[in-house]
Amino acid sequence: MDLQGTSFIGAARGTGGAGEDRAVNPVSGEELDPVYHAEGEETVEAVCRLAAAAFVEFREKSGEEKAVFLRTIADEIDAVEEEIVVRMTAETALPEGRCRMEKGRTCFQLRLFADLLEEGSWVDARIDHADPDRAPVPKPDCRSMWRPVGPAVVFCASNFPLAYSVAGGDTASALAAGCPVIVKAHGSHPGTAEIVGAAVRRAVVKCGLPDGVFALLYGSGRTIGQALVKHPAVQAVGFTGSRSGGRALMDTAAARPEPIPVWAEMSAVNPVFVLPGALKERGEQIAEGFVGSLTLGVGQFCTNPGLLISGSEGRSEFAGEVASLAAEIAPATMLHEGIASSYHGAVDAMTTKKGVEVLARVEAEVGKNAAGAVVLGTSVDAFLTDQSMADEMFGPATLMIEAGDEEAMLGVAESLEGQLTATVHATGEDREVFARLIAVLERKAGRLIYNGYPTGVEVCHGMVHGGPAPATSDGRSTSVGPRAITRFTRLVCWQDFPDDLLPVELQEGNPLGISRIVDGSRIES
Ligand code: NAP
Repeated sequence: MDLQGTSFIGAARGTGGAGEDRAVNPVSGEELDPVYHAEGEETVEAVCRLAAAAFVEFREKSGEEKAVFLRTIADEIDAVEEEIVVRMTAETALPEGRCRMEKGRTCFQLRLFADLLEEGSWVDARIDHADPDRAPVPKPDCRSMWRPVGPAVVFCASNFPLAYSVAGGDTASALAAGCPVIVKAHGSHPGTAEIVGAAVRRAVVKCGLPDGVFALLYGSGRTIGQALVKHPAVQAVGFTGSRSGGRALMDTAAARPEPIPVWAEMSAVNPVFVLPGALKERGEQIAEGFVGSLTLGVGQFCTNPGLLISGSEGRSEFAGEVASLAAEIAPATMLHEGIASSYHGAVDAMTTKKGVEVLARVEAEVGKNAAGAVVLGTSVDAFLTDQSMADEMFGPATLMIEAGDEEAMLGVAESLEGQLTATVHATGEDREVFARLIAVLERKAGRLIYNGYPTGVEVCHGMVHGGPAPATSDGRSTSVGPRAITRFTRLVCWQDFPDDLLPVELQEGNPLGISRIVDGSRIES
């Protein structure tokens, strides 16, 4: 496809006018064609109007119809895999294998939501029949289920150019819910976004859906991003990125006359605890697995393990093993200049803190945006004295904390902010401290991992990719897996409605054969 460098605004392409930008190859520093034209705030008005108009029709589409749409998007993306790989590798420095894997995950997610819609029970239909004879007052007939909230804005993630960008998890779950989606492209991979945007647009046309169901805008977060979140037609936001960016959008959304939810995934250090029995039994093996997880994808995962906590016994051998394995990993190019410079800045800042020692620091000589693994060490006292030691260093860096005894380990766990994951390595002999530690960590993290590593998020029904702030803005949901759909819905109750005026999911005869709760009991179909 010939890239045009313009936004998708319904059936039309944007004309820009609010600045120009190009993608940059992070390895060579070469600027890539074409020029991307940024839209201004007047375009936001037009796009939001289109989305609001589309919502009137799209919200009434059946699960089957929305499933066909999601499957068509996946098919259209599959059809342009080669183009995606060429452009994505040039824009992001991600290797071909990762690009193909992420394409596979993106299409899998779309099809998973299609399956969910076809089965239909996700709406959580609940029916309470009327009881006109109830004393002292008759009971009304009440029926409720999840309904779409309205147009959603999705901010593309820099670290998942496909799976959390134009047609990624946030977009798939919002469309599945019945919400039109307006995507704000990330400036670091605009060409990849355009190829995927064109695929979604073809699916909109093939499925005969209203033009405003999908838009993709190029432009600055601080202008059009903010304007989108302020616009009254917009009813929900999905975001993956920095803590400051997510916080700014949450504040904007909360300050609206009608506040809306911002589902932001921001910052986590994903602590890994190694209990004494596990360290004694398989310290070397844990060191190897940990370093693999730390350096995977140059550490550019929200689940990267940024803290490693172990007891004193055997700690110096363990730290030596982690450091020497990390030192063997070759540096690699990061996604873009901003991420590389903030990584080096964060590591520099951490190394100057009182009580922090450098155990391994791989200097990156190849390519100006390259980064090497860094292993730092500190004591539990120093860590608990300076809370900024728990800050995210987004990249392949970790801080090892020597926690003298079990109480010290529990103290570290208690001091932590909200996390996406928390991992514990244990054996039978660690049982008692394990139970106490997990009780603390369950309050801190969305996913608890036993004898494993946090990177690698399985896309499945049981997954939770969320957690208390600042891991996410709202720890009551997940951005990975089918449950993510309810982030773009709200509950509606129909009271005393005639059967033929009810949504089909709530009609007495259960024409879709879905699982429902009727008069307090689960009825399978
Ligand atoms: P970012 O700077 O937060 O940007 C993400 C998106 O939000 C961009 O589209 C950006 O638009 C927009 N944005 C940022 N600040 C905004 C504001 N105040 N108002 C409105 N929109 C705003 O994240 P990034 O570019 O992906 O990476 C920067 C840093 O974020 C990384 O170095 C890393 O520390 C962190 N990060 C963390 C994770 C994680 O999962 N934990 C993932 C990715 C990044 P513009 O680009 O147009 O400003």
